[in-house]
Amino acid sequence: MTRHPGGLFTRRQKQDFSGWNTLRVGMLITIVGALSVAGICAQQQSPKQNNNAPPVAIAVAPVNGTTPSSTPQVSTSQNEIVPIAEAATGNGIDYHGGPLMLTTHNVYFIWYGNWNGNSATTLLPQFMQNLSNSPYFSINTTYEDASNPVKNLGSSVGMSTQTFDVYSQGSALTDTSVRNIVSGAMSRGALPVDANGIYFVLTSKDVSETSPTNPPTHFCTDFCGWHTHASLFGADIKYAFVGDSTQCPNAPTGQPACATLNTTMSPNGNLGADAMVSVLAHELDETVTDPDLNAWYRNVVNGGENGDLCAWNFGPTFTTANGAQANITLAGVNYLVQQDWLNDGGGRCTMASTGNVFFYASAHDQYYGCHGMATGSTTDCNNITDSNDRLICQAVAQHSQTPCSTPVTDRNLQLSCFGIAFAPNFPSNCRDITNPQMQSFCYGVSSGGSPSTPNCSTVADPDARALCNGMALHDTSQCSSISNANDRQFCLGVAGHDGSQCSTISSCPNPSAQAACLDGGGTWNWSTCSCTMPVVCDPADQQACINSGGIWNSSDCTCSNSGCGTQIICEQSPGGPNPAAQLKSRDILQSLAAQ
Ligand SMILES: [Zn+2]
Repeated sequence: MTRHPGGLFTRRQKQDFSGWNTLRVGMLITIVGALSVAGICAQQQSPKQNNNAPPVAIAVAPVNGTTPSSTPQVSTSQNEIVPIAEAATGNGIDYHGGPLMLTTHNVYFIWYGNWNGNSATTLLPQFMQNLSNSPYFSINTTYEDASNPVKNLGSSVGMSTQTFDVYSQGSALTDTSVRNIVSGAMSRGALPVDANGIYFVLTSKDVSETSPTNPPTHFCTDFCGWHTHASLFGADIKYAFVGDSTQCPNAPTGQPACATLNTTMSPNGNLGADAMVSVLAHELDETVTDPDLNAWYRNVVNGGENGDLCAWNFGPTFTTANGAQANITLAGVNYLVQQDWLNDGGGRCTMASTGNVFFYASAHDQYYGCHGMATGSTTDCNNITDSNDRLICQAVAQHSQTPCSTPVTDRNLQLSCFGIAFAPNFPSNCRDITNPQMQSFCYGVSSGGSPSTPNCSTVADPDARALCNGMALHDTSQCSSISNANDRQFCLGVAGHDGSQCSTISSCPNPSAQAACLDGGGTWNWSTCSCTMPVVCDPADQQACINSGGIWNSSDCTCSNSGCGTQIICEQSPGGPNPAAQLKSRDILQSLAAQ
């Protein structure tokens, strides 16, 4: 991407991060006293401004239409305080030790300004309700925290109380006034003080919002929403700002807009509300996985919460009856929602958790998983890089729940491991899985095709459903609908207990070369797509070495000459080469003579 000089974003280039089509603006605010602003990264803290007050950082939903440079730019003006308890997962997002909102997600709406006659007041609560236990929100179940290793983030969302606020803070809001709107709703009893709550301040199209960064940043020109937390009435309150995007729907090319793909028509005919849906999802995904801004975000690139990593990335879309673009249907209603970051299998943006337990980070792991489970070979399983995937492979290969014990670090995967280790299996282990898609997959495979529900038929993703049915019924005909060749071969191999189906699972241009190499006993280099066959020495060289009294090394076809001129002399010399080597030489000579 090229950066357009001048224009709205000239002064914000240091806050423009690329690699991602995003603009993230973070800031630090001391809770007590005047706002103190520093930095560009929500997780950065300037020591100069660390005046004993806890930092509050704000992660902002980016405005679409920015033109970030091709090189990540990170401010050098701030000293970064690296949080403790960092853990890299290998999934492109890292854990920083803070808590998550694990089980209870109570959403509160504060409709601010004038929402009279606007269908948003119906559309947005309905969206929140439809999000609960959806394949989309279940993506967040791939996140967990350090508080309790047996918990995983739950996929339910509860649309709780809503209230209206008619301009109590005027129509030109600051970050402070947004917080006042939240605390005001609590102090007048309109909303409860709920540490499990996520409070959204939803502003009507005539309301502006300005963050006191240097320079200040604005709703619609710099961001579309943000989330943060504050201590209010003794509780850690998580809240977010999302403005009505009709304030900025039709921006010229390269300039910001908070509605994208749907600047003239939107799925539900309400341009502002339909665009707010995506920003709501962005901030909700971020709030549950990084509520206090010290849990899940990518280390190396600023703005790396799960929502940021997929900002304005919608994936495949379809055209709705009214001509708008949408990418998800929840309870029969179409929406256009940005993707969310899956914290599994190497990480990626996606619209749905497939629930597939056998989701591998690489073709390498998938190849060995397929072989291991198809043939019952734990030796193959041992080649899997990801430890959770390795243990599940061992459990299924051995038909044993033993490998599923404590080392499996993801609770949903662990429960799945217990459930699918052998089938049919009393599927009580599947009961506590917090991802409904993975739960259905677990019930399906572990029940061995029993018709009770949930089972494979309730797995939403068609490829995961096919694998589930294939494994449950040991029926390879189920696999044929899977379009990805590796996933299809995996299904054929595991469902049919046929390791030969696994051999073409590859990330290389020529899977048959890989298959030939591995089948021939060679060593395949998965990164260079090249084969190293076992060393085969020239028998004449070996014989010449033996004849000279040397010691033959068949691993590299070299001869270590002991200095003995002949075999006979060596045999008679007490200081000669080791007796075993000589014995072997003599035996070979005798057998050759016999021919
Ligand atoms: Zn964000």
